[in-house]
Amino acid sequence: MPLKIGDADSSRSLVSHIKYTSVPSGLSSDTRADESTVQWSIAVSGGVTYLIKFSSNFYKKHLHTSTKKLANVQAEYDKLPSGGDDDARWAAAQLAADQTKFLKQLGHRSRGEQDCGVAGCGHSIGEHTGPGRACAKVTQKLEFPGGKAVDDSGKKVKKAFVNYACACTGYAPPYATARGLAGKPTANPLEGATAKMNDLIWMDKIPRATFEKVLQDSIKKRWTELGGAGAWNADGEHIKWDFGAANRGCIIKINESTKLADAFAAGHSAVEVTMKLDNTDVTKPIFTACHLDGKKTT
Ligand SMILES: [Zn+2]
Ligand SMILES: [Zn+2]
Repeated sequence: MPLKIGDADSSRSLVSHIKYTSVPSGLSSDTRADESTVQWSIAVSGGVTYLIKFSSNFYKKHLHTSTKKLANVQAEYDKLPSGGDDDARWAAAQLAADQTKFLKQLGHRSRGEQDCGVAGCGHSIGEHTGPGRACAKVTQKLEFPGGKAVDDSGKKVKKAFVNYACACTGYAPPYATARGLAGKPTANPLEGATAKMNDLIWMDKIPRATFEKVLQDSIKKRWTELGGAGAWNADGEHIKWDFGAANRGCIIKINESTKLADAFAAGHSAVEVTMKLDNTDVTKPIFTACHLDGKKTT
C-alpha cells in the first residue's frame, strides 16, 4: 500500500507542530515547532538511545511535508477535468497543491524575502553584524568635498569617496515581518544563506519505521568506521541517509521552475547530511543534523 498524505505511519509524524493563535482570524492554527525544541529518540541495542536534534534551520529547510490545507487541494481538484478516476484526480490535486507549497517555501529563502526590509537598508543578513543586529554596511559615494565643484579661488575640485554608514538598527526581513504579523511564534525558521535551489526530504513518502532505521544504521555505520565516539569530527561527520529503492522520489531537488511530478520521477532516494556529536552521555549521544550537501544527492 502506498503511503497516504497525512499518514501516521509516514515519517511526517516525526515533524512536530505547536499551536498558535492566527492573526487576524483569532483561530488556533498549527505551526512547525522551533527546531531548538525538537528531539527525536531512537532506541538502539544495549540500553543506548540516539537523540537526534537539528540546527542551522535544517528542520525547516530540508524536512518537507505535503499540505494538509484541504481548501488548497480542493481548488486544484476543481481545476482538473471531471469524469475520470476520482482517486487519481485527488492525487493530482494534492500534487499540484504540494508543488505550490514547496515552491512557496523555496521563495521564502530568496533575497527578496530574506534581505532586510527596513526602509533605506535592503542589505543582506551577513551585513547585519552590529549591536542588536544593526546593519554594518558602509556605502561609498563619489562626491565633491563639501558639495562644491569649485574651490574658493574658482579652481575645479576633484570628486572623492565619502562613506555613508547604513542607519538600520536591526535586521528585519520581509519573511519574518509577515510571520510576526500573522502571529507565528518562530520569527524566521529559514534564516541563513539565501537559496534558489534546495534538496528536500519529502517526509510523507517515507515510512516512519524506515526513516528511524536509516538514521540509526547510518550513524552506527560511521561510528563503527571511526572506531568510536572519540574520532567523530568536531565539525560533524558526513552521514548518508539512504532511504532505498522502495522510496525513490522521496528526495526532491527543487528550483524556481521545478515541476514536482518530474522531480519525483527523477527517483532520488539518498542524501548526505552533516551530523555533529555531543557525547556527554554515552548511553544518550546527541547527533545534530546541521547541513545537507545537495551535490551528494543520489
Ligand atoms: Zn543596511
Ligand atoms: Zn537592515
